[in-house]
Amino acid sequence: MRCPYCKEQQDKVIDSRSTEGGAVIRRRRKCLECNRRYTTYERVETTNKLLVVKKDGTREPYEREKLFASVRHACFKLPHSAETLGSLVDEVEEAVFREFEKEVPSSFLGDAVSSRLRKLDKVAYLRFASLYLQFRLVDDFIQEARNILDGEHTDVVGQQELFKDE
Ligand SMILES: [Zn+2]
Repeated sequence: MRCPYCKEQQDKVIDSRSTEGGAVIRRRRKCLECNRRYTTYERVETTNKLLVVKKDGTREPYEREKLFASVRHACFKLPHSAETLGSLVDEVEEAVFREFEKEVPSSFLGDAVSSRLRKLDKVAYLRFASLYLQFRLVDDFIQEARNILDGEHTDVVGQQELFKDE
């Protein structure tokens, strides 16, 4: 980074933090020449460049909107605000950008979303899992559904009705 004061290119990052839910990384830098400090903002445009590697090996550009839509779809008619779902997607993106630079396996995205949905809302989790995760074996899905429904007998009727909305 070129120092805005002395134009030298020797700098040290003093502090970096992500803002706007991980979309922007703010770095506090110190010029090693003149010792002055300045701030740079790194916008995650890699969002557009990040590729999702699908199970069959094909790649497609990562799109936040698409991920958000899948989460919103899973939460259809469930009492969760757009903010809640937005921060869930933020968390997923932060996890992705921490680990991957250019390509992320679709399975990582799926797991990252489903583990968070599971904590948020079990109905949403089951919907997401059935729609996007493609359980490896049908048995896995049945077992998973059984585990969840076993824990929530009182809600079973309500949940079945919600499922009909799909
Ligand atoms: Zn300088």
